Amino acid sequence: MKKILVLGILLFHLLYSAEAQKVEPPFWWVGMENNELQLLVYSKDVARLKVKIDYPGVEVKKVHKFDNPNYLAIDLIISSETKVGSFNIDFFNSTKKVHQYKYELKKRAKKSANRKGFGQEDVIYLLMPDRFSNGDPKNDNVDAMLEKANRANPDGRHGGDLQGISNHLDYFSQLGVSALWINPVLENNMPAYSYHGYAITDFYKVDARFGSNQDYVDMVAKAKSKNIKIIMDMVFNHCGSKHWWLNDLPSNDWLHQFDEFTRSNYRGEALMDPHASEYDKMIMSHGWFDHSMPDLNQKNPFLANYLIQNSIWWIEYADLGGIRMDTYPYADQEFMNAWVNAVYTEYPDFNIVGEAWLQTVAHTAYFQNNTFANTKAPSKLNTVTDFPLCYAANDAFNQQDSWTNGVARLYMTLSQDFVYSNADSNVIFLENHDIDRFASNVANDMAKWKMGMTFLLTTRGIPMLYYGGEFMMPGKKGEGDAALRIDFPGGWQGDSIDVFNNKNLPENQQLALHFTKSLLELRNANPALQTGKLTHYIPKDGYYVYFRSDGNKAFMIAMNNGEEVIDLDLSEFAESLKPFLSIRKFGEESFSEIPQEVQLPIKSAVIFELIK
Ligand code: CA
Repeated sequence: MKKILVLGILLFHLLYSAEAQKVEPPFWWVGMENNELQLLVYSKDVARLKVKIDYPGVEVKKVHKFDNPNYLAIDLIISSETKVGSFNIDFFNSTKKVHQYKYELKKRAKKSANRKGFGQEDVIYLLMPDRFSNGDPKNDNVDAMLEKANRANPDGRHGGDLQGISNHLDYFSQLGVSALWINPVLENNMPAYSYHGYAITDFYKVDARFGSNQDYVDMVAKAKSKNIKIIMDMVFNHCGSKHWWLNDLPSNDWLHQFDEFTRSNYRGEALMDPHASEYDKMIMSHGWFDHSMPDLNQKNPFLANYLIQNSIWWIEYADLGGIRMDTYPYADQEFMNAWVNAVYTEYPDFNIVGEAWLQTVAHTAYFQNNTFANTKAPSKLNTVTDFPLCYAANDAFNQQDSWTNGVARLYMTLSQDFVYSNADSNVIFLENHDIDRFASNVANDMAKWKMGMTFLLTTRGIPMLYYGGEFMMPGKKGEGDAALRIDFPGGWQGDSIDVFNNKNLPENQQLALHFTKSLLELRNANPALQTGKLTHYIPKDGYYVYFRSDGNKAFMIAMNNGEEVIDLDLSEFAESLKPFLSIRKFGEESFSEIPQEVQLPIKSAVIFELIK
């Protein structure tokens, strides 16, 4: 009898409780450039209720209903004169107030113009939060979360968290990187593979196994105090199949739905291919990324607003130094243009890097500012991931030199930069969480590895290191994604190798780490290596020479990709050497007159500094 009563009360609550279960964004600010805000309200039968707000400066412009009566969208206009504070959203059933929701408008911490995003002066460090360091073992398992920690499972959760990152901010400073791209930290309450973070189940909540929203804000602030910017990894193309929307979709067109499971063809080329079929384009952008990752339909204007506001909310709330947008080509491109432009309207000096994982320069360049897109509203997307240069660098030092192979791969790729609207702001890398680690790709050959690292940290673009890459951490994609994402040595109590405290790291890896640090120190101290003009010379006989010059100072990087020592005649490079009087090899104490020849050891990249 008692059970029936309890059930009855529960049922009554489910059916008649008009309590707003969710209002998102959870709060907002007064004084944003865009004075409009659209609240998404989720509550049982909320569409039957009338909405009233009585607060000076806040006007209800429109209330929208959905196919599903459990949702409403409330369009607000928030005057810049509005007083910071809380107001009530009252929900009426005819004349009876059935619910009240308290909504807060906060004061902006700073003017948007002061919010500078990452740029060419930075070096980015990508890390996977579950695999970097476990700073708080108490959050490894959380009752409400489906997947529990299991460090013995390569595809399981290992317990890394925000506290682990916070604890080691000095490691990044000492290494010489100035921006952290952290793989997604938002809730992934998925039954398996939740560690990578790309199946988001709540866009407004940090995964409890990483920490709280406040922990994230605190970590960003602490990083900022050490001049380290935090780049948030966001995903607009899809969500996790356990996202709360999936239990009760606002409308059928919230997701792209098919009669049977339909996967994306992953062919971003179809989007700009003049010969592409509409079918291929549709499958590219509407097909699901995976069973666990339903495809979001950004053509739905309410979802579009939701995502745009979500990104602005995180920038403003957490004081971000940049966004990395996952699977950029897979989302609706008109929406992506609108999103990027909305972010730049609020934050003109911000930066976003779009993951454009394509094979060629032309296909990649398409996404940077939509140079070639036939669109009324071109995008302000400054920065794309430079996969073509990554592939070139991974080939170059393993190949026999020829007209097209070896260091010619670098030359051939960079010579296509005219296609980009701004190649200097490309994010460049040798490896990331999805592809072979560079050290493994050059079979742990230190000479080849040093050539790659020297190229990465001296050519044009914004360099990015992938955690562990600074000391030749190995990993092959053929062994599964987990092999690319092993735990950072020293991130867990009791680790036999501890990089943070320089304990038991094999000698070759110590040498590699030292080499990376010295290169970063050089780059950080010299604007010519960050923003200087790149001039390169056609490779010949296995050597490749390029200069980075800011007018006052220049660097000459001379690579010998072959198996014989080269005595390099410098007269060939007179055009770039002319303004300078003195030279010194990186590592040498003093400058001397520019000689006729320099010697390049086999398989080496030698850096020379030039001054007037
Ligand atoms: Ca933990």
